[in-house]
Amino acid sequence: MTDPQAPTGAPSFPKVRKRPSMVAIVVAAVMLLVFGAGFSALFAGLATATEAMGVRFGTSAEHTRIVIDLKGKATPKILAPAEGDKAFRLVFSGVELPGFTTGRGQGAVTTWEADQDKRQATFFFELSDDVVVRRSFLLKPGTGVDHYRFVVDLAPRNMQAPGQSNGQVINAVFAPPHQGKRVVVIDAGHGGQDPGAVAKSDQVYEKDVNLDAAKVLKRQLERTGRYKVVMTRADDTFIPLKDRVRKARGANADLFISLHADSGPKGAEGASVYTLSEKASSRVARSIVNGQNWILDAKELRQRDQDVTRILVDLTQRETKNQSARFAQTLTQNLKPVTPLLRNTHRNAGFVVLLAPDVPAVLLEMGFLSSEKDLKRLKDKNNRANMMAAVARSIDDYFESNPARVANLH
Ligand SMILES: [Zn+2]
Repeated sequence: MTDPQAPTGAPSFPKVRKRPSMVAIVVAAVMLLVFGAGFSALFAGLATATEAMGVRFGTSAEHTRIVIDLKGKATPKILAPAEGDKAFRLVFSGVELPGFTTGRGQGAVTTWEADQDKRQATFFFELSDDVVVRRSFLLKPGTGVDHYRFVVDLAPRNMQAPGQSNGQVINAVFAPPHQGKRVVVIDAGHGGQDPGAVAKSDQVYEKDVNLDAAKVLKRQLERTGRYKVVMTRADDTFIPLKDRVRKARGANADLFISLHADSGPKGAEGASVYTLSEKASSRVARSIVNGQNWILDAKELRQRDQDVTRILVDLTQRETKNQSARFAQTLTQNLKPVTPLLRNTHRNAGFVVLLAPDVPAVLLEMGFLSSEKDLKRLKDKNNRANMMAAVARSIDDYFESNPARVANLH
């Protein structure tokens, strides 16, 4: 899904015109604008108005999210849609708009408009579905995002609502910038009684290829002095998948990379990069909120009520997914010159090792043991070192372009 929480790019309004024709401005990106004067008790009476910086949307299987970027703290009055309503409004007092603005929505929102009347800014959202405001909250600035965001989640009216929390102020899910070394967890797939894929002709086991590559990568990363590397296994032992995830979370990992080698039908060749699928992460979110999961232990979330938990898990997970996708993209770019890539190589998967909601993670299939060419490449020491050097470069790039880190849910 698109993630409107992402700290990438500066929020901005689409072109503002004086009184535009009714033609909606079609903005390809998620970053649209809007908004207006909000009113927060804190601001009432203050001469300076808060500025609205933009309006963005995000969608998932479960909801449509509207994010209004604000220079300062402001909470709107929500004129929520009644049953059958095809529109609703947010009215901000003390918030300034650059002028009348309109744009295209996403999900349940078809279009939106924002207009100013004196010190009041009104956002008007046109709806395609019968929805309710499932929750709304104001996000404080955090590392990586320097401004407030007012978030509204819309959900189908007939969907069972486990609870609603409106208007809460939530701390952003970013931890302070990292001091010292970044923690990278390298996961050599399989091991011990679980050999993974096997190239029968050569008696090459995936578990050995993975471990060897992991060790090479570890050396390369440690050589830079910038990383603390944790291995989920350092020898030929069997480690359950869940324990690998627990180890990464326990180490406060900044990044998790799982190394594998594939086996597939004739003709399948090349490396591929996977991140967690939307479906799998929704499942995890639900299980965490319901308190039935193996990832977070009960005491980690004990002090929070279910609603706050839901919001925190949701925000953290989205940010983690964003960062995972960013790393996957960098990785794919860096691998291109050193190894053939499977078509559509950045895919989404439901692999258990990628499930930690607060650790950006990717799974790299380094090639197919079932392919003659890949097998040759994977067995070749120089080739392996080259490939891991590309991975190490990607890790450098990723951290250089991503100073923010996802806060651990501990
Ligand atoms: Zn594998």
